Amino acid sequence: MRHIAIVGSGPAGYYTAEAALKQWRDDVRVDIFDSSPVPFGLIRTGVAPDHQSIKSVARRYETTALSDNVHFVGNVMVGRDISIDELRELYDAVVLATGAPNDRKLGLPGEDLPNVFGSAAFVGWYNGHPQFAELHPDFGHETAVIVGNGNVALDVVRILAKSGEEFAGSDIVAHALASLEGSQIRRIVVLGRRGPHQVTMTPKELGELAKLARACPRVDPADLPALAEDAALDPGMRKTMGHLRSFAMAGDTANDNGNEGGIICPGRDIAIEFDFFAAPRAILGTDRVEGIEIERTKLVDGKAVGTGETYHIPAGIVVACIGYQTSRIPDVPYDEQGGRFANVEGRIMPGLYCVGWARRGPTGTIGTNRPDGFAIIEKIDADLGADGGTGKPGRPGFEALAATRGIDFVKFTEWQKIDEAEVANARQGAPREKFVEVDRMIAKAHPSVQES
Ligand code: NAP
Repeated sequence: MRHIAIVGSGPAGYYTAEAALKQWRDDVRVDIFDSSPVPFGLIRTGVAPDHQSIKSVARRYETTALSDNVHFVGNVMVGRDISIDELRELYDAVVLATGAPNDRKLGLPGEDLPNVFGSAAFVGWYNGHPQFAELHPDFGHETAVIVGNGNVALDVVRILAKSGEEFAGSDIVAHALASLEGSQIRRIVVLGRRGPHQVTMTPKELGELAKLARACPRVDPADLPALAEDAALDPGMRKTMGHLRSFAMAGDTANDNGNEGGIICPGRDIAIEFDFFAAPRAILGTDRVEGIEIERTKLVDGKAVGTGETYHIPAGIVVACIGYQTSRIPDVPYDEQGGRFANVEGRIMPGLYCVGWARRGPTGTIGTNRPDGFAIIEKIDADLGADGGTGKPGRPGFEALAATRGIDFVKFTEWQKIDEAEVANARQGAPREKFVEVDRMIAKAHPSVQES
């Protein structure tokens, strides 16, 4: 019998559990730990609330979660409630699937001013992550600046641009919906430090901007490379360029309404402006953000190099969507440069592995984590050898330790009670209304605990 602990119940965690079941069938017991009382990590608090079809992948994880050989162990913070060394004593293999929940910093003056956010915090806020429920972004200004040209930037732009009706069927949390409904934002500037050919936005996600009810995307035709240069791109990037080119063509007919220098589409009251070759240099303001200083760049060997030309954009809110870092865990070696655990193809040290964003950094789609999970299980299988387990106690050992330490962990069946309550609380047409306080989740999971 093999006893495997997986730390993190997001896509990388559940794909790894699925792979373990396929590899060892009844000869494995898998415990999936999570610091949150609720499972699915990025699916719940990262994937945009209006992308319900992407969130539906969680149903696949449920099949794994409901296996007799897999147990969810929620509300347990590894590194605080139980150490890595303790887990390694209890389990034959420990796999860190903790993702990359922390924002990378811009490293610019003014970054800590009020109403400047990293995307982990901002996305967590509208997705009901308890850590960010009290973020209170202020949308009382006309211009928002979004830094970054990836899919997270697109998520944030879309959330800022949508009307209340466009959130029908989404699970955006009530506090975010109410706050966004009072938004004064009319101009959203998306800064890319490099050019259109260097964006990491995927075509389906970029194309969604063209379908927004009250906003329209605009690209300055002067920023686009010659059409012939698109031929060298892969098919996905060619489609992405098709969207950017169509946004530039639409711009030709737009009216300049003097909206802080921005353009706006006739009949739509929010302009989404792509500002390419634009590197942020400072966040401006005294008591709160008032603007952003930008340096024009040019591409040199694929890198953005400042030209010395600078300009300011007034802005009342800035969201930096520039990538994420894995959280450190005491006693686990960390790769500072990569913002992830130090590892060689997923191996960290004997008995300790990592997978997904915690292994390779924050890249790829949710599905990219599946082959990752299967690959790490193959490595563990090779390391454990033909005899399999090393005689470690696994879950009974953890339960004994949890009892002595008073660890109040949440099981999958208890998450299902939280789930039922969230579904029952949903506003009309929404799949659920998430609890945003851990105490309220625990009160549903363990009804004997008083709701605070
Ligand atoms: P990303 O694709 O790596 O984009 C990060 C962006 O930030 C890049 O444009 C990068 O520019 C820019 N950047 C980094 N440091 C910067 C700095 N100091 N100043 C200015 N710009 C800076 O990452 P992401 O958008 O966070 O997405 C993470 C992963 O999740 C991606 O694989 C993404 O596809 C995936 N995702 C998918 C979906 C979906 O499929 N619907 C939704 C959300 C996220 P450079 O290129 O110049 O470095």
